Amino acid sequence: MAQNQSKQAEGSVLEGSCLCGAIRYEIRGGVGNLSHCHCSMCRKAHGAAFGTYAPVSWDAFTLVSGKEHVRAFRSSAEVTRTFCDRCGSTLQFIRDGSPGFGLAVGTLDSDPIRRPTVQIWARDKAPWWELQDSPPYYETEPSDEGGS
Ligand SMILES: [Zn+2]
Ligand SMILES: [Zn+2]
Repeated sequence: MAQNQSKQAEGSVLEGSCLCGAIRYEIRGGVGNLSHCHCSMCRKAHGAAFGTYAPVSWDAFTLVSGKEHVRAFRSSAEVTRTFCDRCGSTLQFIRDGSPGFGLAVGTLDSDPIRRPTVQIWARDKAPWWELQDSPPYYETEPSDEGGS
């Protein structure tokens, strides 16, 4: 951590934490584009109208503190979601065998620079949420998912 420059600069270290502060992490090299997911599982995991995630590679991620507070919940056959066992903050969306994971962007303390570029699972959105046209949305997921 020799870098003392602004957290805002792309390529610098992003910092994040859970609500109670027990879990702290750092990400080097920035995150991918953000996406809003309106599926019912993301809505429940976040307790919100939608979940916002950004792709992060495991290589770029460092858990600085609170490893003992990270719990995992398997929400579907190949997906595990992690959260803090003290405050309940949802942290990661992890697909088995993937080189990276989806970071729950709401836990970032730094500006990720990247912005939301897509909304997915619009057909499962909350009935009380008025869907916006921007960023563009998909009823399910774009077929070529995985690009950055
Ligand atoms: Zn916590
Ligand atoms: Zn979802």
